[in-house]
Amino acid sequence: MGFFSKDIKSLNDLFMHGLQDLYYAENQIAKSLPDMAEKATNAQLKAGFEKHLSETEGQIHRLEQVFELMETDPEGEKCPAIDGILKEGKELMGEIEGEDVMDVGLVAAAQAVEHYEITRYGALIAWATELGRNDCVPMLKANLAEEKATDQRLTAMAERRINPKAEGKPTKSQPKSTARRSKSKRIARPAAKAKRNGSKKARRRA
Ligand code: FE
Ligand code: FE
Ligand code: FE
Repeated sequence: MGFFSKDIKSLNDLFMHGLQDLYYAENQIAKSLPDMAEKATNAQLKAGFEKHLSETEGQIHRLEQVFELMETDPEGEKCPAIDGILKEGKELMGEIEGEDVMDVGLVAAAQAVEHYEITRYGALIAWATELGRNDCVPMLKANLAEEKATDQRLTAMAERRINPKAEGKPTKSQPKSTARRSKSKRIARPAAKAKRNGSKKARRRA
């Protein structure tokens, strides 16, 4: 772990450390996903983990392409952050009894992993850009897009559980924040604004 030793002296060093960190993380995630798929009982969740496993294998390959562009051999650097997130998820799964609760726990554990990855890819993309290494950016952005899409699918699954009838349509029982978000996506701006103002008034009245 390079954070407190002094082997990171430049932004380039920091970028390489981050790349090795994420390479380690993606490999650990690839090892954990089969276990998560096995524990999932909901067919969609199970299939989602299997899909993300094959995506993760592709992500590892993209990171190897970045190492190649940086003219270094792919190498992992042990990352205590991802180790902790995965360990916590695994311990939680060991404590849960009941299929339904297990799926809910799995969704939350998986989202913690995706959020970790999203922050790391975001930093690497910013640093590569600052270093003028635009050649590395497309691979990192492709991985980031997959993490974000996975996170959104997990959110959709969590929301459907809160309201099983919701198929992307906001209904009364859906939490206000998500209902507003999906509305504003579909409605043209002025109308969306009017709706928002309307709902604000309605809330004030309530
Ligand atoms: Fe990943
Ligand atoms: Fe780390
Ligand atoms: Fe991921």
